[in-house]
Amino acid sequence: MSGELPSGVQRDVALAPYLTIRAGGAAELFARARSAAQVVTLLAWAEAQGLPVAVLGSGSNLLVADAGVRGLVIKLGRELAKIEVHDTRIDCGGAARLPAIAARAARAGLAGIEFGVSIPGSVGGAVRMNAGAYGGELAEALDHVEIATAQGLARREASALRFGYRSSALASGSEIVTAACFRLREEDPEAIAARIARMRRSRHDAQPRGIKTFGSTFKNPSAELADGRSAGQLLEAAGCRGLAIGGARFSIKHANFIENTGGASTADILALIAEGRRRVQERFGIELETEVRTLGEIELP
Ligand SMILES: Cc1cc2nc3c(=O)[nH]c(=O)nc-3n(C[C@H](O)[C@H](O)[C@H](O)COP(=O)(O)OP(=O)(O)OC[C@H]3O[C@@H](n4cnc5c(N)ncnc54)[C@H](O)[C@@H]3O)c2cc1C
Repeated sequence: MSGELPSGVQRDVALAPYLTIRAGGAAELFARARSAAQVVTLLAWAEAQGLPVAVLGSGSNLLVADAGVRGLVIKLGRELAKIEVHDTRIDCGGAARLPAIAARAARAGLAGIEFGVSIPGSVGGAVRMNAGAYGGELAEALDHVEIATAQGLARREASALRFGYRSSALASGSEIVTAACFRLREEDPEAIAARIARMRRSRHDAQPRGIKTFGSTFKNPSAELADGRSAGQLLEAAGCRGLAIGGARFSIKHANFIENTGGASTADILALIAEGRRRVQERFGIELETEVRTLGEIELP
């Protein structure tokens, strides 16, 4: 790296406070971008310096290496969290949170994004992951996104993102979602609110609350492979519920959630992921695939 750091770029910033699992090391360089133009400037600077870049959304699906992350980690600032309703369209910044978008859409009598009400992620992370719940997923509601690269800002249609189950064709780090437009449909606000209330209740019954976690650890295997059983059911049957390594434990309430019970390192969490995977493989011959994403030098089991 040559010369001075651009304004707003800090050295050696701990990332655990930005992650819902509250574990892992620091970013060598960290910047909070306040505009889409600043994201482009940061990407161009990093490219000129030959630095790797990673982007952090709400940190609700991320595991960071204990040894930290080399290069620049960019987080989108509050300035990129706007949510605006225009007829049946909602325009959001890349840092807008899904529960806030779902609530705003419901108030405006717009249906199609209710599933986002209990997903604690940002628009950028949700696009990257094609986040979904209760049979809905982001791909169904998204019209287009604005993407920042080192070359500038560009519009990309949802159809070009090649969405799959918890996946998209966005390139890690070098393509950052700075805005998104959702196309929704008009419906009675009370009917939408009732659906959202049902989703909240079923979430409350099925999942632990107030714990440090990144949500589902593993993707659900295909129905024919697993006889319709979810990853959580397979883990539970393989004896993983409550299983702990160091400060990491498979949740007692939901076996596919790993929680940091205090002082967990990323190494503890990785060891637990490996053990869960090993037990399911041994018992059912099914290889679970992880849903959580990683930053830094981590090899997921
Ligand atoms: C309690 C709990 C419940 C959850 N329930 C669900 C659920 O029901 N359904 C579901 O799908 N997920 C669920 N999740 C997981 C998580 O909330 C989603 O995957 C969410 O979409 C991640 O968004 P994020 O902003 O937190 O992304 P992060 O965790 O910060 O990042 C995830 C990935 O997206 C990339 N990324 C982040 N921002 C951008 C951006 N602006 N541009 C490009 N790439 C970006 C990151 O580099 C990383 O690869 C849950 C998590 C928790 C903690």
